[in-house]
Amino acid sequence: MAIRKVLKYGEPSLREPSKEVHKVSRKISDLVRDLLDTMYAQNGVGLAAPQIGENVRVFVIDVATGNEPLNPIVFINPKIIKKSGAIESNEGCLSFPEAYTNVRRYKNVMIKAINEHGKSFVMEAKDGTLLARAIQHEYDHLDGILFIDHCINRFETEAILEKYHLPALETDRLLEEKDLEEELGKND
Ligand code: ZN
Repeated sequence: MAIRKVLKYGEPSLREPSKEVHKVSRKISDLVRDLLDTMYAQNGVGLAAPQIGENVRVFVIDVATGNEPLNPIVFINPKIIKKSGAIESNEGCLSFPEAYTNVRRYKNVMIKAINEHGKSFVMEAKDGTLLARAIQHEYDHLDGILFIDHCINRFETEAILEKYHLPALETDRLLEEKDLEEELGKND
């Protein structure tokens, strides 16, 4: 168990696709513990393995707040199997200290994964809750996608990155998201 260094935007691991886990081995259990220790130490809501330099398909989330008891959820080899609706969300990331920007997300997701005991589970998160958004954010990390790739206003996002001395927006990575854009337009 250890608190690991969280890689910052610009480090290559954050853009590399992660590999599937073949077995929930001792090594994976140790990684899960390190992810949780590091996430709690940084007061994060979620943390994905590539953020600590391990390109394997594992992430952790805990959306408990205030006096609620800790509620860590471990996702190994996750697959988002259903998604619908759209929501605008102000997001940040432990790899982007202090930088927040508005992004598009699905409102509802259903995810299938393996937990830390090697058991398969399905989880549904609805109504654009923090859990629903965190699942999508962390899941993206496993494919080298970052929250800024989903940004609604690229100029605003560029200014925020500059303000916090982070590398520039990689505009070639911006996602199209026509479906989410249309869905959000309907809500206006
Ligand atoms: Zn993140």
